[in-house]
Amino acid sequence: MVDLHCHILPFVDDGPKEIHDCLEMAKTAADAGIIHLFATPHHLNGQYNNSKSVILESVLECNMHLQREKIPITVHPGQELMIHREIFISLENDELLTLDDKGKFLLLELPSWEVPNYTQDVVYELLLKGIIPIIVHPERNKGFIEDQNQLFELVQEGALTQLTAGSIIGHFGKKVKSFSEKIIKHNLAHFIATDAHNIGSRGFCLHEAYETITKTFGINQTFYFRENAELLLSGQQIFIERPVPIRKFLGIFDF
Ligand code: FE
Repeated sequence: MVDLHCHILPFVDDGPKEIHDCLEMAKTAADAGIIHLFATPHHLNGQYNNSKSVILESVLECNMHLQREKIPITVHPGQELMIHREIFISLENDELLTLDDKGKFLLLELPSWEVPNYTQDVVYELLLKGIIPIIVHPERNKGFIEDQNQLFELVQEGALTQLTAGSIIGHFGKKVKSFSEKIIKHNLAHFIATDAHNIGSRGFCLHEAYETITKTFGINQTFYFRENAELLLSGQQIFIERPVPIRKFLGIFDF
């Protein structure tokens, strides 16, 4: 399997604090059936700044350790960028790091309590540069939970989304789990990833998430997500289902 989002690099953010913990994470991921994994440290989230050059260097070093320890996993560079109004400054500074540094997909994080009113503008600005933003864990965002159609509008505009594996299997509570299912049902999710931070409560439960998706939606839905991650990795066109608006339930007049 391919994991598009995790915090495995040591010393850079709220992931592992030691190289030893990083290698333990990699072993756990490999045991869980993950062979390619994107290291996506936080950038500009108010606590951590990790620009492109720092991450690229750290990924090189991490892969050297993995080879030395014969852990069968490849780490690819990425970044989890916190949305901010002056995204053009980050673009000009060349500090943003798209997945695998291919200039195509960027993990975009929103503050967990809201969808900023400039989100559509930022999505548009990135798309203009040929970068497709992947909004990470929208199912855990209070703003999207309260006004669910905002997510449809962003996907309609051209953004993609990634749900967290733990949300699907209930690690973040019932509300987040049921919103995750709703997002999938409305074709508003394109990828599943672990967002792993450690080998404990925030680990690599990708396989379990796919099993749950298969039980709830059928095997084709799991293939869709698994293949999309593989297609992204190999630089091929990913599948995008036609997004369906999320309407508020209006009782018998719901249409
Ligand atoms: Fe993350």
